[in-house]
Amino acid sequence: MKKIEHIGIAVKNLEESNELFAALLGKEHYKIEEVASEFVKTSFFKVGPNKIELLEATSEKSSIAKYIEKKGEGVHHIAFAVSDIRKEMKRLEKLGFRLLNEEPKKGADNKLVCFIHPKSANGVLVELCQEIEE
Ligand code: ZN
Repeated sequence: MKKIEHIGIAVKNLEESNELFAALLGKEHYKIEEVASEFVKTSFFKVGPNKIELLEATSEKSSIAKYIEKKGEGVHHIAFAVSDIRKEMKRLEKLGFRLLNEEPKKGADNKLVCFIHPKSANGVLVELCQEIEE
């Protein structure tokens, strides 16, 4: 793993949280992106070499909606940048980590992503992400 790419935070209202995080971080978000396949709307802030990703559910079906219902708003996942996601997925699977998707899928911010079940990582939902080359 190369670095912490971003920290994902589940929020109820993206607009309000954008203002709150802009105040907290002293800068505006640089992008808003909807990931229709995941039923989420996201916004991103740069903090040094890392990012904060705010996630708002766009449907009841969204895992973010379910998360907020169960646990409330808060830190939802930690994403690590990897250079070869398939290789990393194989490595972790061999070690007994439970992957939530068998194939990398298209995530927000031009990334291929794969999630690791929190039950196999001390309660932390881990996201692997690899930049998609243009
Ligand atoms: Zn993420």
